[in-house]
Amino acid sequence: MSTKLKVLITGGAGFLGSHLCDRFLKEGYDVVAMDNLITGSVKNIQHLFGNDSFTFVKHDVTNYNHVEGRLDYILHFASPASPIDYLKLPIQTLKVGALGTHKILGLAKDKGARVLIASTSEVYGDPLEHPQQESYWGNVNPIGYRGVYDEAKRFQEAITMAYHRYHGLETRIVRIFNTYGPRMRLDDGRVLPAFMGQALRGESLTVFGEGDQTRSFCYVDDLVEGIYRLLHSDYAEPVNIGNPSELTILQFAKEVLELTGSKSEIIYKELPEDDPKIRRPDISKAKELLGWEPQVDRKEGLKRTLEYFKEEIYGVQQV
Ligand code: UDP
Repeated sequence: MSTKLKVLITGGAGFLGSHLCDRFLKEGYDVVAMDNLITGSVKNIQHLFGNDSFTFVKHDVTNYNHVEGRLDYILHFASPASPIDYLKLPIQTLKVGALGTHKILGLAKDKGARVLIASTSEVYGDPLEHPQQESYWGNVNPIGYRGVYDEAKRFQEAITMAYHRYHGLETRIVRIFNTYGPRMRLDDGRVLPAFMGQALRGESLTVFGEGDQTRSFCYVDDLVEGIYRLLHSDYAEPVNIGNPSELTILQFAKEVLELTGSKSEIIYKELPEDDPKIRRPDISKAKELLGWEPQVDRKEGLKRTLEYFKEEIYGVQQV
């Protein structure tokens, strides 16, 4: 029997999940990736299929979960995560955040595993405090279209803390702010792949509203490092992981045009309901508890991501 530590990563074929699989394999773990492939893709993990330490299970985490043998850690990352995905899949989004999390916590209790839950800056909703500290309770519309994701994630945090307090389960909660990098889906509707895809194809960049809403983008490798450190810390309450470098969506559109050298125009479209007007993480807690802060600046991160999207669109690596 293997003496290696074993980790289950739900959503393992997704953007973040697949990067986590890579990291834990690199650290010498046995990795089980679970995904029902409704928004994830085998393409993200196919490079791991020859690796003896890696197993893929196609399964919907909202159903009973079985993992053979020992299990030391669970990272629960399964969920539609972009606004157009969760608007298209509202029931699945609620189910995976609520029922899926319940099943995962039950599995962790059974196996004596430590669980890290992927939460989100969406728990702050359209925030009335800025930047967002973990102590802020948020401003969420429970019955809006976006509420299916926000409330699922808020419930997820609540049930995780209840398992921690009532069952003494070892739990960790990461609140993830906008993250980007290779393996994002070009068609997931998020602003970064949308603008990059539009710029590369010579289409107009679609800025929603007047583009004065802000976001703060974190490169995926930085996020993965923060998650790795949080999992191995002894802190059970939520921790923000994100890059505090904030800019407006219009500024971001201009950055993408400059980076790609595209002559595309910027056009304006209606702002979606409940779209947060401002967002920037306060990362004091991550700095203090985990000694973590982002290392990859946006210029570098966007360059790396652009290479990936060029390959997706043109089929070859461009130089
Ligand atoms: N957005 C935009 N054009 C697009 C897609 C998104 O202007 O084609 C805006 C969206 O309204 C939001 C911001 O970009 O204000 C970030 O949107 P995204 O879907 O990436 O993620 P969110 O941070 O809203 O979850």
